[in-house]
Amino acid sequence: MFDYPYHKAISVNAKQQGMEYPMICFNFGRPKADGTYSQRTRNGVIGVIIHEVGHNWFPMIVNSDERQWGWMDEGLNTFAQLLTEQNFESGFPSRAFPSNVVNYMDGDQSKISPIMTAHDYVFNSGQNAYAKPAAGLYMLREVILGHELFDKAFKTYANRWKFKHPTPADFFRTMEDASGTDLDWFWRGWFYTTENNDIGIKDVRKYVITDKPTSRAKGMFQGFGADINDYLPALFLVNPDSDEYTPEMANNTDPMNDFKFMKDYLNENYSSQEIKELKNTKYFYEIIFEKPGGLVMPIIAEFIYKDGSKEEKYFPAEIWRFNDKEIKKLFATDKEIKEINIDPNKITADVNLNNNSWPKKKEDTKFDQFKKKSVDH
Ligand SMILES: [Zn+2]
Repeated sequence: MFDYPYHKAISVNAKQQGMEYPMICFNFGRPKADGTYSQRTRNGVIGVIIHEVGHNWFPMIVNSDERQWGWMDEGLNTFAQLLTEQNFESGFPSRAFPSNVVNYMDGDQSKISPIMTAHDYVFNSGQNAYAKPAAGLYMLREVILGHELFDKAFKTYANRWKFKHPTPADFFRTMEDASGTDLDWFWRGWFYTTENNDIGIKDVRKYVITDKPTSRAKGMFQGFGADINDYLPALFLVNPDSDEYTPEMANNTDPMNDFKFMKDYLNENYSSQEIKELKNTKYFYEIIFEKPGGLVMPIIAEFIYKDGSKEEKYFPAEIWRFNDKEIKKLFATDKEIKEINIDPNKITADVNLNNNSWPKKKEDTKFDQFKKKSVDH
């Protein structure tokens, strides 16, 4: 952000907790009488020193009002702490990753306040003013802006407001104008509401391009006195696991839903330039993404193909601008898709993973998750 401007910064090895003051802080964590210490104490000491020394930047130099806006120093500092810990030691058990705020955000709404609440009035200051704003900034950097834009904007904020007294609007405004990105939707959802993120896959329809129509389609054309061969190749809705109709699909009340005229379909969904690029396409997948959660968020979708290759597709949050509940996206491919996973690396604080995969996966029960956690610690 900017170089430390003073001649010293002191961390005193204290007995309990951690507390910051300009140029000096007191941090817990001592070995046992025999000189040994647990991994928990070791990580605690490292985390608290990084955190309390970090307060020299927020709020000792970028001097926000902690009583009004606890998150402006604790949240920004916890975010800087998270990056510093990971830089110090890859895999360090940082507490502010987005996956660590899921239980809080999915909890009892009557006990949750927006981040933009005076610090004294929140039930859970550790989550509200520390972890949630830090996790939000982590997502802004990893998922929404990318490292380069985010770092430029964050650095601009720190330098523009050092030795001054910024308010939340100064932070929001600088992050927007220095990144050149409209982030109103993000500030509104993450900082001013208690909504959470839940994006899922509602349905997948697979069409195969073929010049070998099913007997059902042939029969249908004969019924109209037409020859299907005049319209081939065409698109047929098939079972996602094969290239064949399933009996359920054949029972569809409107047989025209099972079949698409290729020329019309392409013209409806693609520009003429895109159509030229579709020459190897064998399959079209129509994927309906649903959003039961109240937040808008980008969609990160991992495609795993039958040949074992993987691909990650990214759709910015603006994808929800015309429909806040569900949207359909079309994917043209020459390879069959075996599996689709939303947010495979769990970096968007999605509170419900049961709808994140196609085909559906069985999620661990809370007891399974608890058992796994116990082993980790
Ligand atoms: Zn702090």
